[in-house]
Amino acid sequence: MSSKPTILIVEDEVAIITMLRYTLERDGYRIVEARDGEEALIVAAEEAPDLILLDWALPNLSGIEVCRRLRARAESRNTPIIMLTARGEESDRIRGLDTGADDYVVKPFSVTEMSARIRAVLRRIRPALAEETAAFGDIAIDRVARRVRRNNREVHLGPTEYKLLDHLIQHPGRVFSREQLLDAVWGSDVYVEARTVDVHIGRLRKSLIADGERDPIRTVRSAGYSLDEQLKVVERAS
Ligand code: CA
Repeated sequence: MSSKPTILIVEDEVAIITMLRYTLERDGYRIVEARDGEEALIVAAEEAPDLILLDWALPNLSGIEVCRRLRARAESRNTPIIMLTARGEESDRIRGLDTGADDYVVKPFSVTEMSARIRAVLRRIRPALAEETAAFGDIAIDRVARRVRRNNREVHLGPTEYKLLDHLIQHPGRVFSREQLLDAVWGSDVYVEARTVDVHIGRLRKSLIADGERDPIRTVRSAGYSLDEQLKVVERAS
């Protein structure tokens, strides 16, 4: 990653901006801020942020109106937006997601939770912000071109299989339950049966394994799946 991703914080409560700025700068982001809806639209156009944290209740323009206007502009049509909403306003959250927000966080939130949500949203929406390439044993992925190779042969994967593989490669050897993989790949707000994970792992295996090659994915009985650390050992020995 060459430059720091920029996050725009739109919030009229100074204490919240200060807290978020401290944590997110430490996480390696560049922070710009706006105190009301009008300013948010100006700063968003000037700074072209990689992600926007948008408070629901703002002076001048409401968060939802800001979200709608950002989505109407070509340059911010695909910018990830996380809405900050007050506790209990379920209908607001649903309206926020309808208007084009990618996720929402309920106030009061912990900065740790916020920082995890930001990483998850950036990973899901802008994989290019993560490292551009990654490898595990004889498997290599190019996140810019979204290409996968094994033993220098091109492997064609569907979008879900690609995301599964990318997630496993980010945590080599770690065992993930089906529920954890659902959260990471499909998102926690989508209802998918755990069995669906098995189907996609099956497809991923089928695409990755050519004649005589080792299965890179380990099924851990009653726990879930992980990459097989043995693949690295085999690769080094050969
Ligand atoms: Ca507010």
